[in-house]
Amino acid sequence: MQQAADKLAWLAVIPVYAYFYDHYRVHTWHADWLSFAVLFVAQDLLYYVFHRCSHRVRWLWAAHVVHHSSERMDFSTAFRQSLMYPVAGMWVFWIPLAVLGFPPKQIVAIVLINLGFQFFVHTQTVGRFSGKFGWIEYVFNTPSIHRVHHARNDRYIDRNYAGVLVIWDRLFGSYVDEDPREPPVYGIVEPLYTFNPLKATFHEWASMARDVASARGMRDKLRALFAPPAWAADYHARRMAGATSAAPARTTNNDMAAFSARRRPQKIL
Ligand SMILES: [Zn+2]
Ligand SMILES: [Zn+2]
Repeated sequence: MQQAADKLAWLAVIPVYAYFYDHYRVHTWHADWLSFAVLFVAQDLLYYVFHRCSHRVRWLWAAHVVHHSSERMDFSTAFRQSLMYPVAGMWVFWIPLAVLGFPPKQIVAIVLINLGFQFFVHTQTVGRFSGKFGWIEYVFNTPSIHRVHHARNDRYIDRNYAGVLVIWDRLFGSYVDEDPREPPVYGIVEPLYTFNPLKATFHEWASMARDVASARGMRDKLRALFAPPAWAADYHARRMAGATSAAPARTTNNDMAAFSARRRPQKIL
């Protein structure tokens, strides 16, 4: 079902890329290795931006949470993807590639190559590369690096957003090593307790809609959609406190810390 939805989404967005390519491209590339290298690096950087935003903007997290809700870490986790990425707007992040002068079909191809590579980092059977292969951990996303990304331990949460190249995490300060003394604990808290894939897909969207409806004032309504997911956990905690006590609940750093432990692990499917 997800693959059919993906195909439909690509068919819908290719004309958008074509529009930007036809009207706004700043360069016309010859089809050679240089253009492939530029396309590959540029798309991987945009993937990093997309992925980091997916953890920091609730609208995008609502789709991405499905991938993180597994408490397993194996190749099946790689297949666990949301139907809702096209709605969330993942495709928007690739528009700059059309402006850089890459034709729509090349954009689709490089996105699929990037996502295809990521299949292989979802495993616990490969350790950290070391010795003469140690350089790999400095250049490429590896199983060890991506295990950290899927972990909910405090020291690992919201780290290692890499697609293919880990250089972006190292450049932009989001990199952390897998520490053998602290094995990753996978998943997100706030369990859904469901094996229903539709519930898993739409749970966060429904929660977001409820929060938009109940939030007072435009600022909080917008926060319900676009603030970091931590805002939602804090908002829910305040509402719970408001329901059980007449005194207004205050946001504390502890609420946010508690959220960071709660936000990831959700067991579904
Ligand atoms: Zn992620
Ligand atoms: Zn993953």
